[in-house]
Amino acid sequence: MAMKVLVAVKRVIDYNVRIRVRSDGSGVETANVKMSMNPFDEIAVEEAVRLKEAGKASDIVAVSMGVKQCQETLRTALAMGADRGILVETDVELQPLAVAKLLKALVERETPDLVILGKQAIDDDCNQAGQMLAALLGWPQGTFASRLELDDGSATVTREIDGGLETVALGTPCVVTTDLRLNEPRYASLPNIMKAKKKPIDIVTPDDLGIDVAPRLTTLKVAEPPKRAAGVRLESVGDLVDRLKNEAKVI
Ligand code: AMP
Repeated sequence: MAMKVLVAVKRVIDYNVRIRVRSDGSGVETANVKMSMNPFDEIAVEEAVRLKEAGKASDIVAVSMGVKQCQETLRTALAMGADRGILVETDVELQPLAVAKLLKALVERETPDLVILGKQAIDDDCNQAGQMLAALLGWPQGTFASRLELDDGSATVTREIDGGLETVALGTPCVVTTDLRLNEPRYASLPNIMKAKKKPIDIVTPDDLGIDVAPRLTTLKVAEPPKRAAGVRLESVGDLVDRLKNEAKVI
């Protein structure tokens, strides 16, 4: 039986952009900055599309939450092979608990067999939404997946952990979050980008889903990392050892 897959895709500052902190320290500059799909979410979409190509997934629904422009992120997912999109539109800054609650509400509407998220969003680096979603739904979770296999009613997930790899078996429905080595996402071809323009995107609001998305945390301050001091060129190994011992005091 082919499964229905829901994939979460977040719009974030493109990973190539040099991040600038706002002068008042309230956050990072997002005006006139290139935005893209969170890289771990590209891996999530790719995995869903490969499952569909292998006949294991039937329908792929991409979900993005945030401002109106998240539709562009959804179009990218549709061009990669997702079948339809859902935008949960809001101007409120969404924290992982709000994201998890919204996704739970959509899971109840859409009844997927599998939800795939990135392991973390590269802007907030939270690594929380997938785990919170699994907990709210009471579903099993396979996080940091570097391999995913589906069989009737079960998923086998190989996870990247500190000491190596761990393989877990989950019943479906379940939540999986992607790690870097799960796959290499494809680039959308021009014909597929054109086709994606005709695929449907539903727009709902947190209110429509009955979810309170008010932030639970307040950002007090965002600061640039300290600038790296210039290095010095030393004459000899002896000189290096001397400085490591007496100046840096690390040996
Ligand atoms: P985080 O817990 O914020 O690091 O995010 C983990 C994952 O949750 C991301 O890789 C996305 O798959 C999903 N996610 C987080 N925020 C959003 C959002 N605003 N819209 C869609 N998906 C999101």
